[in-house]
Amino acid sequence: MRELLLPHIARVQAYASVRPPDILEEESGRERGAVKLDANENPYAPTARVREAIAAFPHLNIYPDPEQAHLRKALAEYAGLGPERIVAGAGSDELIDLLVRIFVGVGDVAVTATPTFGMYRFSTQVAGGRLVEVPRDPDDFSLDMHGLLQALQGGAAKIVLLASPNNPTGNTISRREVEALLETGRLVVVDEAYYEFSGESVASLVPHHDNLVVLRTFSKWAGLAGLRVGYGLFPQEVAATLCAVKPPYSVSTLAQAAAIVAVEDRQALLGTVRTLVHDREGLGKALAGLPGARVYPSRANFLLVRFPGRDVAALNRRLRERGIYVRYFTTPGLEDCLRISVGQPEDHRRLLVALREEVKP
Ligand SMILES: *Cc1c(COP(=O)(O)O)cnc(C)c1O
Repeated sequence: MRELLLPHIARVQAYASVRPPDILEEESGRERGAVKLDANENPYAPTARVREAIAAFPHLNIYPDPEQAHLRKALAEYAGLGPERIVAGAGSDELIDLLVRIFVGVGDVAVTATPTFGMYRFSTQVAGGRLVEVPRDPDDFSLDMHGLLQALQGGAAKIVLLASPNNPTGNTISRREVEALLETGRLVVVDEAYYEFSGESVASLVPHHDNLVVLRTFSKWAGLAGLRVGYGLFPQEVAATLCAVKPPYSVSTLAQAAAIVAVEDRQALLGTVRTLVHDREGLGKALAGLPGARVYPSRANFLLVRFPGRDVAALNRRLRERGIYVRYFTTPGLEDCLRISVGQPEDHRRLLVALREEVKP
């Protein structure tokens, strides 16, 4: 079968994803519960209204609405754009995958600014394209606009994918930078998975450009990562194409219903977002007090921390042995960094106790 397999698929590296709490607890042999700060999930359950809507959901035997009419209407109201520009997916991951598949073929180029979210590389590889990585400024992770514009000038370049706030660096990109990239005529995808935490968006530009896409998700702010629901704001033509090619039932009935109630209950959910933003600042100050640690400013629900000169791979292993899970990257330039999601105060307390013991001057 190896000979029948497409060569670019045989070369794909599996996406390095994190594992769920029950598996982590089995691994660490702990009853107390792992401290799970490795996937930027919302540590608070969705609101009671959302949980009740899920518990009482009556239509499990019925296929979802492939046109997502009710969900798109709710999202249109939330995002301030017409429903004809909105498509939901099984997480924004599915929309990243679909966008890359409809624009990037074998031999085509997708461009991104690294370090960044691993899905851009993964989806490009699966599509048979080539990802051109333009490194961010090593000091503050700002974009190398000259490098990006140059990469997009190449004839094979079709699309540029940028997260704002960026995962794992936490910084945003400016409206001016997005506008400069739009000038290239290539498809510009701004992944706003952490929009509710930053409060910054380029969504209002979408109706004025036929090459701008904004992606959002319910995984982070609304606490629905397990249900898989994300959405995009698209040029109308791109939305229509996506609707035509997407798997019709990928967003389940339950996910659609929960997302609608989350939009209705957004005041309460955004209250949790404010708590997380507040607690992020406290956690950042405490982490900055560790010997030698450098904490990067973040507009999202996580912090990137650098421990210069330290063996952070070993530090990460010791934290895991203690049942504390954060994100460690082997990516060049991040080998001495940890990405730590903002959790509940008790998570922070246990994390800091462990770090103060493990990170001695
Ligand atoms: C978490 C994350 C996503 C994935 O969101 P899902 O909707 O859960 O697929 C997308 N983009 C970035 C930058 C993320 O960090």
